[in-house]
Amino acid sequence: MSTPENAPVIGKDALGRVVKDLSMVPWWGMDRPEIKWYPTIDYDKCATCGICFVTCGRRVFDFDAKDKKVVVAYPDNCMVACQTCANLCPTGAISFPDASYIKTLVARNKVVKKAFEIIRPLLSKENLSEEEVETKPNME
Ligand code: SF4
Ligand code: SF4
Repeated sequence: MSTPENAPVIGKDALGRVVKDLSMVPWWGMDRPEIKWYPTIDYDKCATCGICFVTCGRRVFDFDAKDKKVVVAYPDNCMVACQTCANLCPTGAISFPDASYIKTLVARNKVVKKAFEIIRPLLSKENLSEEEVETKPNME
């Protein structure tokens, strides 16, 4: 299975940084391209400050040298449910789908349950009854 570590390199961005094809990495069993989660830039608001492009570690953005603007070059590299770039954007130019879209995906794919199974070995049995171990979290 593809992971961010072994995803194929597909090029370099305008700053010479390596770009990987993270669309090959599934999200909790779903093919990433099936999930419509990525930033959209409103160019009427964008000030071309560059913070989204410079800080996104997944190389979703690139810089269009011809048009002198930041672009969403690799939308499916975006980490599902992340909104860091929107939080950082000083002009509110970046938007994402409504959070209810993610909550639906989480429920449909039993993501909370799967995550809990991963951390379960870390939980102290003294603090958790067998019944709690079997039933937490009650998200089904
Ligand atoms: S939401 Fe996160 S991963 Fe996606 S483009 Fe913005 S900073 Fe990058
Ligand atoms: S952070 Fe916002 S204003 Fe800055 S380049 Fe990105 S979209 Fe434009």
